[in-house]
Amino acid sequence: MATSVEVKTVGNWISGRVEASTSGRHGIVWDPATGAEQARVAFSNRTEVDLTVAVAKRAFAEWRSVPLSRRAEVMFKLRELIDANRRTIAGMITAEHGKTVPDAMGEVARGLENIEFACGIPNLLKGGFSEQASRGIDVYQIRQPLGVVAGITPFNFPAMVPMWMFANAIACGNAFILKPSEKDPSVSLYLAELIQKAGLPDGVFNVIQGDKEAVDRLLDHPDVKAISFVGSTPVAKAIYETGTRNGKRVQALGGAKNHMLLLPDADVAMAADAAVSAAYGSAGERCMAISVAVAVGDVADPLVAAIRERMAKIKVGPGTDDSNEMGPLITREHRDKVASYVANAATEGATVAVDGRGAIRRDGFFLEPSLLDNVAMGMRCYKDEIFGPVLCVMRVKTYEEALRIINENPFGNGVAIFTRDGGAAR
Ligand code: NAD
Repeated sequence: MATSVEVKTVGNWISGRVEASTSGRHGIVWDPATGAEQARVAFSNRTEVDLTVAVAKRAFAEWRSVPLSRRAEVMFKLRELIDANRRTIAGMITAEHGKTVPDAMGEVARGLENIEFACGIPNLLKGGFSEQASRGIDVYQIRQPLGVVAGITPFNFPAMVPMWMFANAIACGNAFILKPSEKDPSVSLYLAELIQKAGLPDGVFNVIQGDKEAVDRLLDHPDVKAISFVGSTPVAKAIYETGTRNGKRVQALGGAKNHMLLLPDADVAMAADAAVSAAYGSAGERCMAISVAVAVGDVADPLVAAIRERMAKIKVGPGTDDSNEMGPLITREHRDKVASYVANAATEGATVAVDGRGAIRRDGFFLEPSLLDNVAMGMRCYKDEIFGPVLCVMRVKTYEEALRIINENPFGNGVAIFTRDGGAAR
């Protein structure tokens, strides 16, 4: 006889407690390592967003006048609590995102740096004063909180990116609403508990789970004064346009295509180590992942050989097993999309040096690392952000040609150069 197992639904955090959504809509939270449904996540509606904003607005009225030293005290306490619970937070990240536990521990460490920064808020919020800015006129500059502000965050850093946003927003005296990624939402509620334990008054930090409907309401709600977004470029653009049209301050960080540039004098072993860890760490689902290696002159052949040698040793498997170095991708759809770039590469004229699609047959959303050689600018695998364990190699004749390619790419975020020539590096 089949037995039904109750699946938990990840709810909201409003005014200091978990609130179940009544919207009737939800998303599925997968276990990427097994491919099984492990939870559901509420998709909040406009009314629930309105209620959360009202709660945050009331809490803001008090919180903005709490002394800086007291706000800093909350941040110091939160720092201790996160530090003491690194393993728990990392475990929650691994369970829903799939990255390995050491990688998740790294995420927590990076997130913690933002809480530490916010501990210095009494100093950071100092204003300025200019005497005689005009004849007989002195000018004061003071920093004040805006009110209710919201953060909309991506799946790939479910703890760190929220920490980028809420630590400073709260320390500055704002009330904050987090709309986490619906793919790995649970850690947001655990962070909310720690924030409460740190002594933050209820209502100053809230979590609203959801999809486009909740985001759209945050974007047009008159009491939300600023939006911080991190995610893919098309969504970043839409959020920036709508938010600013509605008179809000918006910062929207989008997708990436990071290049590494190798000059003929590069230390190939060192560059290959860096390429393998930056391209395949966290299954390539990092905004700072290296996805293109641009090799100048003769360095390409030894580089490809050294990368292939290292790739063969990468152990792919569930992130919960400490012997694994790379976990699964976030969803089946995303894994299949990433695999399609490898499948199409040869038709576009690239060489599939290593094909990682063998792991597709396993349970879970796994894909082994892939290496595409002889990639050119017009190819889809070069033009799109793949956001998976696929590294493209481009072969060029000169440094100038490499620079032109990198500068013409419409994506950020970063570029690395490998050379023994200090002048070229500078
Ligand atoms: P995403 O754009 O799909 O989702 C980000 C957030 O927006 C989520 O909370 C999601 O629920 C919400 N969202 C999705 N579609 C929406 C829509 N149509 N309208 C309103 N809200 C919507 O991004 P993702 O897949 O979760 O994250 C991966 C992306 O984030 C990659 O492109 C990566 O490069 C980028 N990223 C960038 C940085 C950076 O610093 N630039 C950092 C981390 C991740």
